[in-house]
Amino acid sequence: MIRSLTWKLEGNKNTSTRRSERPQTKTEHRMGSVGSDNTHVFLVCYPAQGHINPMLRLGKHLAAKGLLVTFSTTEDYGNKMRKANGIVDNQPTPVGNGFIRFEFFDDSLPDPDDPRRTNLEFYVPLLEKVGKELVTGMIKKHGEEGGARVSCLVNNPFIPWVCDVATELGIPCATLWIQSCAVFSAYYHYNAETVKFPTEAEPEFDVQLPSMPLLKHDEIPSFLHPFDPYTVLGRAILGQFKKLSKSSYVLMDTIQELETEIVEEMSKVCIVKPVGPLFKIPEANNTTIRGDLMKADDCLDWLSSKPPASVVYISFGSIVYLKQEQVDEIAHGLLSSGVSFLWVMRPPRKAAGVDMHVLPEGFLEKVGDNGKLVQWSPQEQVLAHPSLACFLTHCGWNSSVEALTLGVPVVTFPQWGDQVTNAKYLVDVFGVGLRLCRGLAENRLVLRDEVEKCLLEATVGEKAVKLKNNALKWKKVAEEAVAEGGSSQRHLHDFIDEIARTSIT
Ligand code: UDP
Repeated sequence: MIRSLTWKLEGNKNTSTRRSERPQTKTEHRMGSVGSDNTHVFLVCYPAQGHINPMLRLGKHLAAKGLLVTFSTTEDYGNKMRKANGIVDNQPTPVGNGFIRFEFFDDSLPDPDDPRRTNLEFYVPLLEKVGKELVTGMIKKHGEEGGARVSCLVNNPFIPWVCDVATELGIPCATLWIQSCAVFSAYYHYNAETVKFPTEAEPEFDVQLPSMPLLKHDEIPSFLHPFDPYTVLGRAILGQFKKLSKSSYVLMDTIQELETEIVEEMSKVCIVKPVGPLFKIPEANNTTIRGDLMKADDCLDWLSSKPPASVVYISFGSIVYLKQEQVDEIAHGLLSSGVSFLWVMRPPRKAAGVDMHVLPEGFLEKVGDNGKLVQWSPQEQVLAHPSLACFLTHCGWNSSVEALTLGVPVVTFPQWGDQVTNAKYLVDVFGVGLRLCRGLAENRLVLRDEVEKCLLEATVGEKAVKLKNNALKWKKVAEEAVAEGGSSQRHLHDFIDEIARTSIT
């Protein structure tokens, strides 16, 4: 049992009384609250788009509630954030009733295109080695200056050593889990060896986790499969579970009502706080602070020129790289379906050493104004746009939650990791998706005819209506969860109260 309801750790003693204990005007709060008597939450984030987005959303939300938040990740990623989003470091920016500031640390690789950043076997341990010392130094500095002593550290997967830093400095630590609670359960039980998983001897073994539907061997998070080529990623994630007892809270970017039973189940082993969907939290939205790797292309005017519920949005997130032949099949399927589409064709990172995709000859001419290609989109705005019909997605958890809670049906095209489990849930549990692909383990090309058939089924006809109605149901659930008094707001308030309590002498 990893419960520790009150944070009474040695060394976490601020000597001042919190300003919020006496009446205070909003102006006073905004003008003078970056001081020694402010609750300061320090977020340490693994440098990847899918990690940055939910962590930054959490940061903005905590800031909006009146806290001082420092967001920290590597200098390399910081540079990209400065370029794409105009982020300025070390300068508190007002968000709602509080402030957010950025402070980056050097991962010791001077070349921005160093391919070793994509080799997690190398990069995860390197980050631990250099990050542990630098983050410790940053936290100590805040304490020494007496201006903004850190009240709580928050990390996310791949950097479990942040919890060690917190323990060593006597500061409470929380973890932001950025995947579903179902996936959390899979990793938890794998690590605890409380449930049987596929083995080399039985690779096709199906997995029964408590309070979950039976997962076929290719529906468990793929990094847990003995023959998966990326088991290094599984080990990186499992590192967090080995230190789970050091996290006082596990905040999750999910909704209690979306995963009710599984949240209850995991609450038996740690304090689970579903605070999602973080991107939908109203107070944190009215700010331009974003963590995109690259500037989004303009596509909203084009979307507005299309009829309601007519456009298929296609994106495979920030990491997945499809084979060129697969891109060809998707392009041909799109052409023969005749549906309008907005397709994100992200240029690959130089460090990944792969080629930019090309489209079949004559494709763009044939498509004309019926389709639009972008390198990066303002995805939340795209998914919220009335012209959208459905989303052909790789099923990363951020994309899945964004679609689900904006009422957008999906066509699932997972590749690896939690994507395959998310696809299972989107299709069979949440009822908002059609399955087009089972994942990389399937090792086959999804052909143009399948693409065409699936896109048409998801956009017109009886099935499409059913998917849309289910998606709208989840949209409402999400709106209620993030409204005042809703489950996600309550969980977040609990968390903030707990940090505040430990910030007071
Ligand atoms: N995203 C975006 N524009 C794009 C593609 C993706 O803003 O063109 C955002 C998307 O909204 C999501 C994140 O990038 O928040 C991708 O995270 P996800 O977990 O879906 O996938 P990952 O990139 O981690 O595989």
